[in-house]
Amino acid sequence: MPTYDVVVAGLGGFGSAAASHLARRGQRVLGLDPRPAAHAEGSSHGESRIVRQAYYEGASYVPLLLRTYELWAALARDGEPLLRRTGGLFMGASGTQVLEGSVATARTWDLEHEVLDAADLARRFPALSPPAGTLGLYEPQAGVVGPEAAVAAHLAEAADAGAELRHDEAVTGWVSSPDRVLVATTRGHVGAGALVLAPGRWAPDLLGDLELPLVVERRVQHWFVPSRAENFVVGRLPVWMWDLADGTLLYGVPELSPGGGVKAAVHFSGGTPAADWTPAELAATLATLLPGLGDRRARATDCWYTLTPDRHFVVGWHPGGERVLLACGFSGHGFKFTPVLGEVLADLVVDGATSFDLSLFAPERFASTSPVR
Ligand SMILES: Cc1cc2nc3c(=O)[nH]c(=O)nc-3n(C[C@H](O)[C@H](O)[C@H](O)COP(=O)(O)OP(=O)(O)OC[C@H]3O[C@@H](n4cnc5c(N)ncnc54)[C@H](O)[C@@H]3O)c2cc1C
Repeated sequence: MPTYDVVVAGLGGFGSAAASHLARRGQRVLGLDPRPAAHAEGSSHGESRIVRQAYYEGASYVPLLLRTYELWAALARDGEPLLRRTGGLFMGASGTQVLEGSVATARTWDLEHEVLDAADLARRFPALSPPAGTLGLYEPQAGVVGPEAAVAAHLAEAADAGAELRHDEAVTGWVSSPDRVLVATTRGHVGAGALVLAPGRWAPDLLGDLELPLVVERRVQHWFVPSRAENFVVGRLPVWMWDLADGTLLYGVPELSPGGGVKAAVHFSGGTPAADWTPAELAATLATLLPGLGDRRARATDCWYTLTPDRHFVVGWHPGGERVLLACGFSGHGFKFTPVLGEVLADLVVDGATSFDLSLFAPERFASTSPVR
């Protein structure tokens, strides 16, 4: 039976990063995925992912974010750096989660930022006309990375460092013991010192026995074509998030290349389920923030969130499986962490420990909870 130091199940956002870091640390890696590299059926496609540090989801993410920025700065595809700084605006009325959480995190970690009122926002960014009372935290370090390019770059690094990557084979099960893991695949069995499970939205299929309270939800990424595109380009419009105070959170990305369209989407919804918002509904809601965006769409694509009840990740050792690591439940905000969590997964496999505090992501925290809905 073939034997490896590590088998990585899933070669999307997180599996590709883990395979890269593990292989570059000298591990003999087998990466398995039943789908082609950088495919569009999971969670890592759609040209852009927002990266930011003034994290409203919690100040305790910041050490990981500082390290992930260092790793993004070192990651390139065809000589092009993957991280593109556009600046970021995190907006809402006073008291809303995105605004207050971003400000609190920026202050706690002394991150470069400004807080702008509605008039400042409209003056600085010509596409914006926020409702009176809106405040925005502006973070100059925020930007975007391309998910398909990042997956391809991590896979290329992994392959260059000797990883064997197969895109026609799935992991179907495993048996772990104190000294190794026997991994069952759609083509047979392999032995490994460790197994990293990064199956994205397919986690409930692969991890059914663990009964993690994961909920998989569709999201639609839309690209609009404003009549005055010059106000929506990088340099004039940052990436943005807008908290409408009723549980609805919208976000968008400026036009990244000429004619490429302006991306906008529903992150979470306080009313109609996020997946059911029509393009007209989204355009009408955004008309109060970005009046020139219009309702003409160039294209749209579905993508999938794998949500945990607390919207924090699941990263750590499998509670019932020695030598098996979990990386899933990224709850719609994981991509920016792919490089650093790839490194953390490699630390756990190679050194048995990491310097980062992963307690927020402990798989055991759901022991007595049931799915969100
Ligand atoms: C619309 C949208 C917008 C987002 N915006 C942002 C953002 O702006 N910023 C941000 O940081 N994050 C964002 N995210 C979240 C981020 O993109 C995800 O957290 C991240 O892509 C998840 O990566 P993954 O590796 O878990 O999943 P994927 O990249 O989908 O990879 C999972 C892989 O596992 C494979 N697989 C499944 N089952 C098996 C098996 N049994 N054996 C082997 N392989 C298997 C699949 O084929 C797949 O390739 C967004 C997500 C979406 C959907």
